[in-house]
Formats: sequence, C-alpha cells, structure tokens
Amino acid sequence: MAEMPSRPGEFELIARYFAPLAEAAPGAAGLLDDVATWRPTPGCETVLTVDAMVEGVHFLATDPPALVGRKLLRVSLSDLAAKGAVPRTYLLALSLPDSIDESWIAGFADGLSRDQAEYGIALSGGDTTATPGATTLSLTAIGEAPEGTVIRRAGAAPGDDIYVTGTVGDAALGLKAIAEFGADDALARWPDLVDRLRLPRPRVGLGPALRGVARASADISDGLVADLGHICLASGVGAALEADAVPLSEAAVRLLAERPDWRDAVLGGGDDYEILFAAAPGMAGRLAGLSREFDTAITRIGAVAAGPGVTVRDAAGALLKVAHRGWRHF
Ligand code: ADP
Ligand code: MG
Repeated sequence: MAEMPSRPGEFELIARYFAPLAEAAPGAAGLLDDVATWRPTPGCETVLTVDAMVEGVHFLATDPPALVGRKLLRVSLSDLAAKGAVPRTYLLALSLPDSIDESWIAGFADGLSRDQAEYGIALSGGDTTATPGATTLSLTAIGEAPEGTVIRRAGAAPGDDIYVTGTVGDAALGLKAIAEFGADDALARWPDLVDRLRLPRPRVGLGPALRGVARASADISDGLVADLGHICLASGVGAALEADAVPLSEAAVRLLAERPDWRDAVLGGGDDYEILFAAAPGMAGRLAGLSREFDTAITRIGAVAAGPGVTVRDAAGALLKVAHRGWRHF
C-alpha cells in the first residue's frame, strides 16, 4: 500500500488552515458552502486575474512555504495595481502531492495570513486536490475600480512619456547571483536582491492613484523591454527606451560594478512587479507629487513613438541590442 501523507484529510485541512483566512470575507460562508458570493461596490467594475505557480518552475520545494504563499498572492496584487484596481478578495486552488506535509501547508497559510493583514483582503474560497505531479498553486484575485477607469495595456499614444516605478532588475540579478554563487552566498552578499526575487512589493497604493494619469500600463513580470513591447503591441505604437535612465537600486549598481556582463538582466530579466506606464507629457508634475505621496520613485525612461517595436539606446544615443524576448514558458 502507498504510504499516506503525514497530514489530515481535505476537509480538516480546509477548516484548520483556510477557514480562518476566510473569516473576514462576508460571502465566504466559513468555507462551508459550494460557492462564495461577491457583492460589487456600486459604480465599480470587477477586475479579475489568475496566476499559477508550479514547484520546480516558479519555486523550489526547499523555499520557505510562507514566502511561496506571499509571492503567489503578491503577483496577482501586482496585476491589479497595474490596472488601477483595489484588491478585494481571492480564490485559491491547490494541487498537492503526498510530499507536502501539514507543516508546509501551515507555513503557506501563515504567509497568506500575514499578507491578508498587510493588504486588507480575505479569502473567499478555493479547491484542494491531490496530484501525482508537482505542487501546483493557483490564485484568482478580484479587485475593483470605478467604471471606465481601468488602465489597460492599450491606450499609449506617440509623444507620451514612459515611466517606471521603483527600481528595475533587482529580482533578475538576485536570481543570477543565486545561480552563480549558491543561495547562501547570494543571500549573504546581496540580501536586497534575493529579497526582491522572493517577495515582490506590489504597488497596491500607487496603482489606483494612476487612474486618470496613466494612459496605458502593465506590471513588469516578463522583463522591462518585453512588457514595454506588450504595451506597444496593444496600443499599436512603438517606444524608444533610454537604457541609462532605467532606475537601479544601490545593490544592483554594486553587483553590476562587479559583473558588468549581467547588465542585460536589468532590461531583459523579469519578476520586478513594478508598474510600467505611458502618460501624456503634461502629467510630469502630477507624477512628481504622487512619487512624494507614495514615497516611491517614478522615473521617466523613454517615450512612445509612432513606429512599431521597442528601440533601446544608451546615453550617447547608440542603439543597444537587448536579449529581450522576456520569460516565456513555451
Ligand atoms: P465543491 O466540491 O462543492 O467544489 P469543496 O468540497 O471542494 O466544494 O470545497 C468546500 C469548501 O471549501 C468550499 O467553500 C471551497 O471554496 C472551500 N475550499 C476548498 N479548498 C480550498 C482552498 N484551498 N482554499 C480556500 N477554500 C477552499
Ligand atoms: Mg471541489
């Protein structure tokens, strides 16, 4: 007989670890019903996004489960933020192999609990199954924005300025450092970069403040140049990116001084979860105010052009070649 996993049954797991996360969700019915209900705020559009994370692809079995839970939630919160939406609730689907024990689930739920408190949302429902394959986690986030204000990828116009929040490249450089030096050394020498890789900081406050300011936006998950390409494609425009204007963290500057050959990771890497957006030239003053209000850098990194495609130039105006396909699964 196959050995049973060292964890309680499905319904006990739900009652013990997930029902507490649903206490503040009015439509969750204590996770004791077939469905949850959701009552939209009058005058708002509901904004939906789903993301999946697979062990061996997005995280490792040895990663702290609390961080896995928080990252799963935060990547979806980043999508909502980039659309100007406020997060409201979420649904969770878990496919767990026998190797996942109760302590992993407890840690995972604990991470979600911490971030629920941080972002003011609660769980509305989900599904739990066994799998003969790798741990697979899927989260559907539900947000809201006043009708007609959602910031889409389409909408950028030639002459608009292109901006990015925060700093770019930290997570990709953290990943490169781990691959080169091992997780322990990378963490010891570049804690800020590894931290950015493990725990995205979705711009949940700033995103909704960009409604009526940004004409088009996306969060950076695939890579700066790749995601700028997505905005351009949806908007039917091109873009001229100024590589030397791209904001770097202090840690990234230090690592790049040691490894200048890793510079491509800044423009081509991913997992930044910053907001990349286009705004009309007249918005510069308002953006400076938002930057102060949210204590977050908002940096102009280029301009929208009429022609198709993204060109990247250095400070001297020379064209740079960037390996910018971005991350693709297949
Ligand atoms: P059904 O079989 O009708 O789909 P389930 O028996 O799968 O319902 O789930 C029972 C309840 O537990 C539902 O309210 C469901 O939303 C909730 N639930 C199951 N798994 C999870 C999970 N991983 N996270 C949150 N809620 C869950
Ligand atoms: Mg079910």
